[in-house]
Amino acid sequence: TSFAHFGFDEQLMNQIRKSEYTQPTPIQCQGVPIALSGRDMIGIAKTGSGKTAAFIWPMLVHIMDQKELEQGEGPIAVIVCPTRELCQQIHAECKRFGKVYGLRSVAVYGGGSMWEQAKALQEGAEIVVCTPGRLIDHVKKKATSLQRVTYLVFDEADRMFDMGFEYQVRSIASHVRPDRQTLLFSATFRKKIEKLARDILTDPIRVVQ
Ligand code: AMP
Repeated sequence: TSFAHFGFDEQLMNQIRKSEYTQPTPIQCQGVPIALSGRDMIGIAKTGSGKTAAFIWPMLVHIMDQKELEQGEGPIAVIVCPTRELCQQIHAECKRFGKVYGLRSVAVYGGGSMWEQAKALQEGAEIVVCTPGRLIDHVKKKATSLQRVTYLVFDEADRMFDMGFEYQVRSIASHVRPDRQTLLFSATFRKKIEKLARDILTDPIRVVQ
């Protein structure tokens, strides 16, 4: 598979070329077409596999399709991950690729300023990258709303469980409309992750790095 097989438009292709990626990684070859088809997906993949781009590129296509249909407030895509560092990395990739369409990303994570994050959320963004507890805090304070979310990603789900975020992860899933597309990434596929997948995904396709 080459990048051309994904059917991305010229704007996104140019940005991928600028990144000097020569070919898609295995998780991208398998995952991108599934995510583009609108199906739910479980990706068993580690850091370094290129999993971030595998969910960001289809997310951008989804947002551009959805933006016209769903006017209103709040993000269209939410990416939930375990740590501040990962949040910042994913946010950087969202900005790098999202800028070709003028899409805005905001990162909200524990340890950062609530006030600054709330201000950024209120200025508006199609993409929110977050740690679980902090997103819930902002929703409770009405700094943002999940009502427009139709693309939901949980990255490094096993690590989020290890850190004690299971309740928050489930709470976020239960507050997003059920007809959303959900992608779940995890380095391992243990019983608890399998159970989570059964509870929050609809008829998912599983891909292994
Ligand atoms: P990730 O596994 O998403 O954390 O990505 C690991 C690194 O691989 C990041 O620095 C990406 O920028 C880079 N990367 C993602 N996709 C590709 C690709 N197709 N070819 C080469 N590098 C890539």
